Amino acid sequence: SPVLQINDLYASVEGKQILKGVNLTVRGGEVHAIMGPNGTGKSTLASALMGHPKYEVTGGTALLDGENLLELAVDERARQGLFLAMQYPSEVSGVSNANFMRIALNARLGEGHEMPVLKFHRELQKKMKALSMDPSFAERYLNEGFSGGEKKRNEILQMTVLKPRIAILDEIDSGLDIDALRIVAEGVNSLRGPEFGLLVITHYQRLLQYIVPDYVHVMMQGRIVRSGGRELALELEQRGYDWLKEELGIVD
Ligand code: ADP
Ligand code: MG
Ligand code: MG
Repeated sequence: SPVLQINDLYASVEGKQILKGVNLTVRGGEVHAIMGPNGTGKSTLASALMGHPKYEVTGGTALLDGENLLELAVDERARQGLFLAMQYPSEVSGVSNANFMRIALNARLGEGHEMPVLKFHRELQKKMKALSMDPSFAERYLNEGFSGGEKKRNEILQMTVLKPRIAILDEIDSGLDIDALRIVAEGVNSLRGPEFGLLVITHYQRLLQYIVPDYVHVMMQGRIVRSGGRELALELEQRGYDWLKEELGIVD
């Protein structure tokens, strides 16, 4: 069963210190949610873990199954089973959605274990159907001309194809109407099990009604300042963040 251990992680963007000592452990079978005001470093945490070149880790460690993720190249992190659904997925011209996913999947399965092409396409169509995606999306260029909601669905499609061991979903709910949200959540929940650990970043309690977390964490000023169960998300929805800032003596 996988385990992601983040210890005292510091990261900076363009010379500005954003993460200031993040501690978090996500195990297989668990769903963790990170909430928090805008600009507090949630996406920075996701990008730093994935190895985005703009985000420089300046301290601490991140281990996946005991192996130092921070020493691995981006594609090696993916091969180890780490997946990130980005807040703003990028468009890639010239590569079809299906080919992109097949290459990524085969890289993850490893040489000599590639999935036969026909089997891949059959399973892809099945998964697209489950996400109510039009079959034509397979042959379109990656994310090109996709609406915000379509990009989000596509991120979840990629995740269900790749079956990561640890996934991070950054604001997967933004731009989704309630029906799309339910469909996306079902796709996510279909992966839940002892071999899958999930970290969801969201502003809204609403998502957490569909993807029910075991733990809720609040990030402020680059660190996790409060952790609790799912009731913490409800409290934040009702009371906002100011009371917590006051309690913690945070001035911004
Ligand atoms: P959140 O996801 O919690 O809203 P972010 O991690 O996106 O916050 O941003 C944290 C801080 O880092 C913000 O002040 C933001 O402006 C800055 N930041 C994040 N990404 C970049 C970037 N690529 N270039 C410059 N500043 C960035
Ligand atoms: Mg934000
Ligand atoms: Mg963000």
